[in-house]
Amino acid sequence: MERKLIAEPFKIKVVEPITMTSRSQREHAMEAAGYNTFLLNSRDVYIDLLTDSGTSAMSDNQWAGMMLGDEAYAGSANFHHLETAVREIYGFNYVVPTHQGRGAENILSRIAIKPGDWVPGNMYFTTTRAHQELAGANFADVIIDEAHDPQAAHPFKGNVDLNKFQELIDRVGAGKIPYICVAVTVNLAGGQPVSMENLREVSAMARNHGIKVMFDATRCVENAYFIREREDGYQNKPIAEILKEMFSYGDGATMSGKKDCLVNIGGFLALNDAELYQKATQLVVLFEGMPSYGGLAGRDMEAMARGIYESVDYYYIQHRIEQVRYLGGELAKAGVPIVEPVGGHAVFLDARQFLPHIPQEQFPAQTLAAQLYIESGVRSMERGIVSAGRDKNGKHYLPKLELVRLTIPRRVYTYAHMDVVAEAVIALFEQRHLIKGLEMVYEPPVLRFFTARFRPLAQ
Ligand SMILES: *Cc1c(COP(=O)(O)O)cnc(C)c1O
Repeated sequence: MERKLIAEPFKIKVVEPITMTSRSQREHAMEAAGYNTFLLNSRDVYIDLLTDSGTSAMSDNQWAGMMLGDEAYAGSANFHHLETAVREIYGFNYVVPTHQGRGAENILSRIAIKPGDWVPGNMYFTTTRAHQELAGANFADVIIDEAHDPQAAHPFKGNVDLNKFQELIDRVGAGKIPYICVAVTVNLAGGQPVSMENLREVSAMARNHGIKVMFDATRCVENAYFIREREDGYQNKPIAEILKEMFSYGDGATMSGKKDCLVNIGGFLALNDAELYQKATQLVVLFEGMPSYGGLAGRDMEAMARGIYESVDYYYIQHRIEQVRYLGGELAKAGVPIVEPVGGHAVFLDARQFLPHIPQEQFPAQTLAAQLYIESGVRSMERGIVSAGRDKNGKHYLPKLELVRLTIPRRVYTYAHMDVVAEAVIALFEQRHLIKGLEMVYEPPVLRFFTARFRPLAQ
């Protein structure tokens, strides 16, 4: 039977009460937080859609695994479980655990990049690009143009543009490109997937030129679901099989376990090459810990190993994607401008269209996120000019996409919560012309979106 909603494929065993706040409490809290949703206290938040990072609900099986932590300094049994999970599900030979994704990005950037190198990527991610640049690389965006257009209908908006990749190779030389970073799905494009065909072609082109393919695997299970849904020949394939094929086109991956591995903390660097792995183990002791724990407790590695197996369950990932799509559908029906098609982990509001009267230098997405919180207690995140930061000459990067991200934690909220969020956004949309922009009053030098502070512009 076709169902209107894909009901939760889990029952609730433990509950966590959430706080209710009044509008005046929220106005006060937002002002104290400098109009930056990152600086709010979570106890002042009703429905927290800031991020899906580390906010997942673990299963009873994962919690049971937490009690089986082998807290040995070296050679923990849980490390071997993690290694087995990564080999079986992702297909990479070697795994270096890290405290989270950026720990792996740091190590990969340092072992693979020389100053003056170029690292192409299908759009950027904040911490990923920051680590590449810190290691001396120049970043080159090689995503297809459709990704920069919030309304472009394309089933795989995360795809790499092979012409852009080839042009970069021609311009700087393959010797200056240690690897291409392929994100599956592409967070900043709206959780948009990459097709298997594209992965195959990118891999062939890279290998022809002796360039490695390194995945940002953070949301790889979501990507596999979209391939199963949209790409010919994959409709009846198990998610695990699709994932294995995706990674067969790469040489390694950085992983934020806080996303698709269904844990609250953890990550890893996965590699096939023995020599690179050797280098990674030399660095991990400096930045994270022993190669067999890398900044994680044994129990954390156990939870991540179990989460990896759970994440490829079809009913789990179907519910996740359909729940996100449901929220997007409710907003689109009401005429709210969102990024389409709706991606894997979030619904993105198009702040340029939502607030056309606010110029980008007055931070429309930042403004919208702040107003949504004041209106409803729903916490979202800016993904626009503030997140993009400044270039080497100190100028704002001016990204085409000026978005507010409503990110859905895994297995945490119900459809009733999605309805509350939709109603709040729609109410704001109806009074959008009353909303005024912001000015920045404090700006840290890197990753400014985390801690920058703002104040409302006078009339
Ligand atoms: C979250 C994320 C990272 C960084 O991972 P952390 O665990 O937050 O350090 C890297 N890439 C993408 C696409 C992400 O979403």
